[in-house]
Amino acid sequence: MGSAAAGRQAVKTKPCDCCAQPVTVAYRFQLAPAKGWRFACPACLPAEQAKPGYRYGGTWKGSRH
Ligand SMILES: [Zn+2]
Repeated sequence: MGSAAAGRQAVKTKPCDCCAQPVTVAYRFQLAPAKGWRFACPACLPAEQAKPGYRYGGTWKGSRH
C-alpha cells in the first residue's frame, strides 16, 4: 500500500486557530461553553487565556522526540 518510508519527516506544523499561521508548537484550549478543542500559537495564547472560560488542554508539538 503506498506507505513506503518517506525518509526523515520534517517537523510537522499545525495551523493556529486564531491567526492561521502554521506553527510547530500549539497550545490546546477550550473556551466555555466548550464546543471542542482549539489550538493557539504562542503568540495568540495570551489573548485566549484572558477570555472567560479558558481551559488549557495540553501542548501539541510537531517535532518528534
Ligand atoms: Zn496564532
